Amino acid sequence: MSLKKIRLATVWLDGCSGCHMSLLDIDEAILAVAQKADVVYGPLVDAQDFPKAVDVTLVEGAVSSQDDLEKIRTIRLRSKLVVALGDCAVTGNVPAMRNPLLTRKMLERIYIDGVQQTPGVPHEGVPALLRMAVPLHEVVKVDLEVPGCPPPAKSILFVLSELIEGRMPDLSSKVKFG
Ligand code: SF4
Repeated sequence: MSLKKIRLATVWLDGCSGCHMSLLDIDEAILAVAQKADVVYGPLVDAQDFPKAVDVTLVEGAVSSQDDLEKIRTIRLRSKLVVALGDCAVTGNVPAMRNPLLTRKMLERIYIDGVQQTPGVPHEGVPALLRMAVPLHEVVKVDLEVPGCPPPAKSILFVLSELIEGRMPDLSSKVKFG
């Protein structure tokens, strides 16, 4: 008898890809996951638009731009469970370090101050930054938070294994921030 696979998505907002690297570090256990889950969206999947009717979406990174905000709202509407994966998604972490600075001043500092050749803040094709980079729970309901920078592969595997079996993982003894 073939059991129905869950529809799994992974998303990368304002993060460094380290959380996705840790996900890939589950090594051959990924084969066991693949037997029970179809990855319908993610950095390694050739799908442009976030699909409908996703069961579980793992989200790396903070919400930092207008694009991030629209994406996470769509993800929330189309996912049964949204999992904040890693400290950036859970607390803001590294992307939120810019929050004490005015966005305009920060961009001028990076792109104009001290730049010798063609100084100027890029606008074309660059998503507008939000005033602050914020964790997911500040803009959408989050079903599960998995801290760590990045979360260890064994914790991610535990989370995936439990969610695939329809259980909400108990992370109280398994994860830590940083
Ligand atoms: Fe990178 Fe750490 Fe943020 Fe994950 S939590 S995206 S590893 S900085």
